[in-house]
Amino acid sequence: MNNLLNKGSIIVISGPSGCGKSSLLKEVYKYIDNYYFSISTTTRQIRDGESNGIDYHFVSKEEFEKDIEAGNFLEWAQVHGNYYGTSLKLITEALELKKIVIFDIDVQGHDIVREKLDAITTSVFITTPSLDELSNRLTSRATDTDEVINNRIKNSKIEIQKIQKYDYFIINDNLELASKQLLNVIECSKIKTSLFDKDMIIEKWLSN
Ligand code: ADP
Ligand code: 5GP
Repeated sequence: MNNLLNKGSIIVISGPSGCGKSSLLKEVYKYIDNYYFSISTTTRQIRDGESNGIDYHFVSKEEFEKDIEAGNFLEWAQVHGNYYGTSLKLITEALELKKIVIFDIDVQGHDIVREKLDAITTSVFITTPSLDELSNRLTSRATDTDEVINNRIKNSKIEIQKIQKYDYFIINDNLELASKQLLNVIECSKIKTSLFDKDMIIEKWLSN
């Protein structure tokens, strides 16, 4: 059946900074293959432990704005005061190779991807059991200043208002359970009816 797929599929993962998106994806990668994680471009400061080209492509504001002008992004947004964007070229190539393309992007980016590529997109919103727990995680991760953490907590109250726009909702309390749920969502995303070529399926089915 796989050869009847027109192209790859997209999984959009959103949720407040610190809810555990990267931790969950790390777990899920142990069980999936044929995926491509979209490495975003950003103007935010690189954190301790991050690498350019692996976590993000870190660029200056000027470089980012040039890429906007040149139409190089599938989507871009300002999040927590910095630019973030998804490069069009690499994800197009991954989709042509029928990969599962995974985006960790914010709620604004989700809206744009849905607008442009709705038929092949499945989305999931992830959060912590409470705002207090989000604050604990951001503090114990110890990668950001108090000012940055407070800004992210403030934004999380706006982001959570958008959960209804997503196909699935996962509360990342127990990491093992939440990663199993995410894995299930990814498995289901591969068999969305809209991914298949209906005419080809019917023709093949009738010919047997
Ligand atoms: P995000 O990618 O959403 O910004 P991270 O994956 O960096 O979030 O997680 C933020 C912090 O919370 C990290 O220190 C991580 O180890 C921790 N964390 C993630 N999931 C859980 C969980 N289920 N329970 C407790 N701590 C968690
Ligand atoms: P962080 O700075 O913690 O890595 O990410 C901050 C926020 O930016 C997260 O909500 C993350 O999902 C979002 N983000 C990361 N890359 C992109 C992107 O390419 N586009 C958009 N719209 N948001 C992004």
